[in-house]
Amino acid sequence: MPARVGRPGERVTIYVECPTDWCIVDHVAEPVGAAEDINHQGAPAVLNLAADQAAGVPTAVYLSWWPGSHDVAAQPCLAVDVDRDVAVYGRTGALAIADQIIAFGQDVRRLAETLPEDMVLPTGGEES
Ligand SMILES: [Zn+2]
Repeated sequence: MPARVGRPGERVTIYVECPTDWCIVDHVAEPVGAAEDINHQGAPAVLNLAADQAAGVPTAVYLSWWPGSHDVAAQPCLAVDVDRDVAVYGRTGALAIADQIIAFGQDVRRLAETLPEDMVLPTGGEES
């Protein structure tokens, strides 16, 4: 895949092997300073919560791979965005997070199912 690298005004197009079929980054439209700065990211799965409830829970996850990294991101990993604070996890950590989120979702459903039926409001709008 082509990628633009270099300082503004000195950018060149290089060709690097795109690692997988999941990267959605346009490496030409989003140039980086050096080849080792290239970061591959997959399409995010997003949890849409009310804006005032977003902090503290993952709001988006996506595959990520920063080949120039010297930590877990040096190979494909799961990026977990918690209110724009992104952490990355390898397979074991990512599966543990998935289990926690599934369990949490089941708790949310269990509690939600105990709620009474929604009231029909005179205005026809959704109650908040
Ligand atoms: Zn890529």
